[in-house]
Amino acid sequence: MTRRRLSILGATGSIGRSTLDLVARHPERFEVVALTAHRSVDALADAVIATGAELAAIADETGVDALADRLAGRDVEVLGGRAGVLAAARAPADWTMAAIVGAAGLAPTLAAAEHGGVLALANKEALVCAGPLLLDAARRGETRLLPVDSEHNAVFQALAGRDVGELRRLVLTASGGPFRRAGLEEMARATPAAAVAHPRWSMGAKISVDSATMMNKGLELIEAHLLFAVPEAKLGVLIHPESLVHGLVEFVDGSQVATLGPTDMRVPIAHTLAWPARLAVDDFTLDLAAVGTLSFEPPDEERFPALRLAREALRAGGGAPTLLNAANEVAVAAFLEERLGFLDIVAIVEATLEAFAPTTPATLDDVLDLDRAARERARALCDAALR
Ligand code: NAD
Ligand code: MG
Repeated sequence: MTRRRLSILGATGSIGRSTLDLVARHPERFEVVALTAHRSVDALADAVIATGAELAAIADETGVDALADRLAGRDVEVLGGRAGVLAAARAPADWTMAAIVGAAGLAPTLAAAEHGGVLALANKEALVCAGPLLLDAARRGETRLLPVDSEHNAVFQALAGRDVGELRRLVLTASGGPFRRAGLEEMARATPAAAVAHPRWSMGAKISVDSATMMNKGLELIEAHLLFAVPEAKLGVLIHPESLVHGLVEFVDGSQVATLGPTDMRVPIAHTLAWPARLAVDDFTLDLAAVGTLSFEPPDEERFPALRLAREALRAGGGAPTLLNAANEVAVAAFLEERLGFLDIVAIVEATLEAFAPTTPATLDDVLDLDRAARERARALCDAALR
């Protein structure tokens, strides 16, 4: 059996580490081409040494010398800066994990989409920010996009290649996050520590805050629309606190097919790693008898207006999802730095969306210009909210 040659963009993050864990369990099946990170020199160096990766790229240029020192005497190419990360994304691989967080991952994810093979997509912000461009790059590169996001991975498996014309509904489940039962007053006072303490999933800080505001589910509605070509009206959200049913599809005859599994991102990652085969991982299992009860409830768009905003942006199309994503990244960062209240995050996103006339960015430069303008506006709104 030939070994699958793979790269991990964002190797030091939550998804990156989960991917490395799976790779380490199956050294006979995988060979590592390139690994990238933002600033974590030591974590990246450790991963390169453990995997024997051929190329390592650190986005923050000031870390290149330290990385080169740590890897001195080894047969590995060390690169730095955004160009270095892009070079890592372009290095030919059979399989690439796109796990950089935020629109910072857009250019590398696009580059990986251009070279064929499988692109395992965790970086949903890249898709939301520049959906048509990313899908087009994958089409031109004959690259197979596979969703890593647990809900979309579940839907992909439930669909099993059926025509979306046979679908009545596509439903993404959501845990409801740490504030599922919280009142608005409690949410207004929420600290970053409380917002990041997710009841079910252990994830990076940004996506944890997105789960608390439910903007994560909003971004995921847009992601589902782009990945599966399903119109907004057929997309549903279901609160499911146990987080064991990850997504489901309802066909026109009333049959519903759902995908269940443990609350562990390594399960959907493993699905994409071996696709279309299966990777045996003995300790991943879900004992439904021990769980006993699965519960469901409708989402509350009053307390979680991010869902409504994302649906509006999806329907508006064009640059609206780009604005939504950029403003959200700025507001979440301000919240994590304790410069903004929790409820202000979505208010800033809404105000940013309202500040722009509808446009349709056609090229990557157009998208990046709009992303930049939205960030500037959102930053000004955050500063104004401080006063
Ligand atoms: P994280 O913050 O734990 O890791 C992010 C990774 O990206 C790190 O390796 C970091 O070094 C790198 N990075 C950050 N900024 C960068 C920059 N400017 N340039 C280059 N690299 C940069 O994030 P995560 O939780 O692993 O999430 C990664 C992506 O996967 C996000 O898009 C998130 O929405 C998505 N996702 C995550 C989960 C999860 O369980 N963590 C689930 C579904 C989807
Ligand atoms: Mg998800």
